[in-house]
Amino acid sequence: MESIRQIFRIGFGPSSSHTMGPRRAAQIFLDRHTDAASFQVTLYGSLAATGKGHMTDQAILDVLKPAAPTEIVWEPKIFLPFHPNGMLFKAFNGKGDLQEQWTIYSIGGGTLANEEFNEQKTEEIYGMNTIHDIQQWCEKKGLSYWEYVEQCEGEAIWDYLMEAWEVMQDAVRRGLEAEGVLPGGLGIRRKASDYLIRAKGYGGSIKSRGKVYAYALAVSEENACGGQIVTAPTCGSCGVLPAVLFHLKKSRDFRDSRILRALATAGLFGNVVRTNASVSGAEVGCQGEVGVACAMAAGAANQLFGGTPAQIEYAAEMGLEHHLGLTCDPVCGLVQIPCIERNAFAAARALDANTFSTFSDGKHRVSFDQVVEVMRQTGNDLPSLYKETSEGGLAKKYQRKIKKK
Ligand code: SF4
Repeated sequence: MESIRQIFRIGFGPSSSHTMGPRRAAQIFLDRHTDAASFQVTLYGSLAATGKGHMTDQAILDVLKPAAPTEIVWEPKIFLPFHPNGMLFKAFNGKGDLQEQWTIYSIGGGTLANEEFNEQKTEEIYGMNTIHDIQQWCEKKGLSYWEYVEQCEGEAIWDYLMEAWEVMQDAVRRGLEAEGVLPGGLGIRRKASDYLIRAKGYGGSIKSRGKVYAYALAVSEENACGGQIVTAPTCGSCGVLPAVLFHLKKSRDFRDSRILRALATAGLFGNVVRTNASVSGAEVGCQGEVGVACAMAAGAANQLFGGTPAQIEYAAEMGLEHHLGLTCDPVCGLVQIPCIERNAFAAARALDANTFSTFSDGKHRVSFDQVVEVMRQTGNDLPSLYKETSEGGLAKKYQRKIKKK
């Protein structure tokens, strides 16, 4: 596996696959053609189907248009064989002659790949790729998952995780301050600040739960507005892990050094899924985004509460298992419905998975690795209607309602 930095990418929302990846691809292409007279970019499959709502065109135009006129072509019905999120970049000279064409795919979490080039395959720094093997290593050595991360990544990982943690906390704080309507035309008001105020009016577990919802909403609403966030493992699911960690830091006084270790463990679990299955909604549906985020947060929370490697694995396993089959059907292609609420629910579910596992001895039948394999297979079996094309499910139902009116 490569570095957990690939799981925790710092960037701007609303979508790691639909904005962060295309923006980076545009920058790479522009760097090769700074003297081009014009560009044309064709978006295929899922990128074209939900690209307008996800601001894919805007992300590309922000980079290319200041350099030369740029045309965007939409091909939502054409799915290139390598991956559903295909892009074809073309650069032309002043006579209109084609200088180069480049087909590249945004394969999730902001990562780019094609038949010759795969960011995912560089810098393999982890010797073990399954939680089973890593857990055995932990138990044999008496160490924890975060210590395996430190051993593979080196000390520098802590600086990176601190930077990521600061961006996560800033996103929570900004989101709690901000008010107004989210962009995209659905007319959805931000809810985070209201939820926090209402949560404070309660006591006990309702207050606590309300705050977790508020923190997750805050980050997801920032993401929907194109604000700076950290993928965990994607933009669409970026609210889950910060909500859980921010809540535990505030309510239990965990020091940042402990939070960073929990982040390392969360990154390790996300990395195993990314390596052995996918964290792309276009490939496996929302189980790969919010489901994986829940697993990461559940494992992180369990570690903070002193869980053994087996209990941490169990918490993460439940976080993912109980999201199996979760479809991706964002209304109007925007990362808003069901995405934002879904982050809040997954944060709460992660805390439940932590509690459930804490009450156990960590023994259970289905392993995390097996659930990852089932998630991959389930994702393969899902029709493309439910994989970030906005052609089925909630996206279809809501459009119908609008048409009937
Ligand atoms: S439904 Fe899930 S996978 Fe799809 S865009 Fe929303 S958060 Fe991402």
